[in-house]
Amino acid sequence: MTIGVWVLGDQLWAGQSALESCLQQHQQTPVIFIESLAHAGQLPYHLQKLVLVWSAMRHFAAELRSLGWAVTYTQSQDFKTPLIEWINSYQISELRVMTPTDCPFVALIQKLELPIQITFTPNNRFIWSDEEFKNWAGKRKRLIMEDFYRQGRQRFNILMSGNQPVGGQWNFDKQNRKPPKGKLTLPEALWFEPDSITQDVINFIRQSEAFQDNQSYWLLEPFRWGVTRQQALQVMKFFIETRLSSFGPYQDAMVTGEQTMWHTMLSPYLNIGLLHPLEVVQAAQLAYLDNSSNWELNSVEGFIRQVLGWREYMHGVYVYLDDDYSERNWFNHTHPLPAFYWTGDTQMNCLHQILTQVKQIGYAHHIQRLMVLNNFALIAGISPQELEDWFHAAFIDGYDWVMQTNVIGMGQFADGGMIASKPYAASANYINNMSDYCKNCAYNPRERTTKNACPFNFFYWDFLARHYDLLKDQPRMTQILRNLERLSPSELQKIRSLASNWHTT
Ligand code: SF4
Repeated sequence: MTIGVWVLGDQLWAGQSALESCLQQHQQTPVIFIESLAHAGQLPYHLQKLVLVWSAMRHFAAELRSLGWAVTYTQSQDFKTPLIEWINSYQISELRVMTPTDCPFVALIQKLELPIQITFTPNNRFIWSDEEFKNWAGKRKRLIMEDFYRQGRQRFNILMSGNQPVGGQWNFDKQNRKPPKGKLTLPEALWFEPDSITQDVINFIRQSEAFQDNQSYWLLEPFRWGVTRQQALQVMKFFIETRLSSFGPYQDAMVTGEQTMWHTMLSPYLNIGLLHPLEVVQAAQLAYLDNSSNWELNSVEGFIRQVLGWREYMHGVYVYLDDDYSERNWFNHTHPLPAFYWTGDTQMNCLHQILTQVKQIGYAHHIQRLMVLNNFALIAGISPQELEDWFHAAFIDGYDWVMQTNVIGMGQFADGGMIASKPYAASANYINNMSDYCKNCAYNPRERTTKNACPFNFFYWDFLARHYDLLKDQPRMTQILRNLERLSPSELQKIRSLASNWHTT
C-alpha cells in the first residue's frame, strides 16, 4: 500500500498534518504539488499573490526534496490530470491531504472523483482546532470575540499573571487609536529581492496569456515579498525588534505614501503556512517579557489580540458558519462594485491612495480595509458578494476563510450581526481624523450637501435613513440614529438625492 501526499499552496510547512503523518516513511512517500492554471484563473487575482504562492510552493518543494521526500512538482490546466498520472506512476492507493482551510477546496477535491481512498488529515494551521472552536461556540448564546480572546489568553498562558491578565486589564484598545498628527518617524519595512526561482515565476506570469487581464489591474513588479519560511521568520524577527514596541498607538492611523506603518506584514506568510500563529504569539510574548520595563504593554497586547484573538476567532467562526453564509445580504445591497476599485481612478483621495497601494503591493492594513474600502461599499449599498470577490482577488493574503468573515460579516454586516456588534459605517469625520488623506482631496470632509460634499458624508446619512427600520433594534445604533433624527427634512432630502444620483452619474 502506497500513501501519497498532496500539498496545497497554503499548507507550506513540514509540520502540516498530512506530511507529519508520513514522516516515519518519508523516503517512500510520494508528494505532489500542482500549480493549476484554471484554479489561478477563477478570479483576477493580484499578480503578486500568484507569485508569492507559486514561488513559496516551489521553494518548499525543493526543501522537501532535499530532506529525502519523493517530490513531484507540476503545472497543469486542472488538478485531476496530473493527480491521475502521479497516482498511476507511483501505484498510490491512498491520497492524504490536510483538510483545506477554504471549504470550497474540500468540495473541489471531492468532485475530482479520484479512483483511490482520500483521507483528510486534521487541519493544524491554527491555534484552535476546528473541533475546539465548535465546542467553545456550541455552549454559547452569542459569539463574542472578547470572550474567546480571554479564554485563548488563559488557555495558552499568554500575557497572564496567574489567572489575571498582565497589567490588570485584558484590553488596551483605547490607547491604540491615536490619529497621525505631527511628524511621525516611521520604521522601515523589510523587503527581499527575488531569487532565480521567484524570477522564473514572475517571467512566466508576465508572458502567460492566462494572466493578461490581471496585468491591467495589478503591478507584477517590483515583487519584494519573502517566499520561504526562513524569510518569513526574518520578517517576524524584524517586526518584533523594530516595530512591536510601538505597534499599538498608531495601528489605526493612515498616512499618504506609507504602505506599512507599524504593521507586521506577517499575514501573507501566516496564511500560506510559512509561519504558525502560535509561534508568532509566543515570540511576541517572549520579547515583551525580556523588555517589559521599557516596552508598552498596549502595543504587545494589541498585536497579540490581532493574532490570538481576531485571526483565530474569524477562522473559528468560518468553520462554524452555515453553508449559505457567503450569500448573506442583510441590507439587500445590490449596486455593482464601482470600476474604480479595480483601477484606483477616483477623485476620492482616501480610496485613490489605498487602491493605488493595493495595486502596487496587494496589501492595505486593517483600518484601510475596514473603515475606507469596506465602509464606502457598505454605505453606498454595494453588493457584499461583489465586494468579497474583489477583496479575495486583490489582497496578497486573501482567502475564502478570511474574506467571508471579514467582508461579509465584519465589513458589510451582511450577516445581520453575527460577527460585528454594529455596522462599521462612518462618515468622512473618521477618515479625516485618522488620516491625512482629506487634506489633498477634491471633496470637502465637512460638507454633506454642497457641490463638493464628501461622498462618505451623504452616503453615511443616506445609509442610516435607508435602513432606519433595520438598525433601530441594534443597541449600539441608538445614539447614532438620534443624530439622524436631528437632520431637517430638507437636508435629508438633499442628502438622499445626492446619494441616489451618485450611482447614475
Ligand atoms: Fe475621502 Fe472624503 Fe476625505 Fe476625500 S474628503 S479623502 S473622499 S473622506
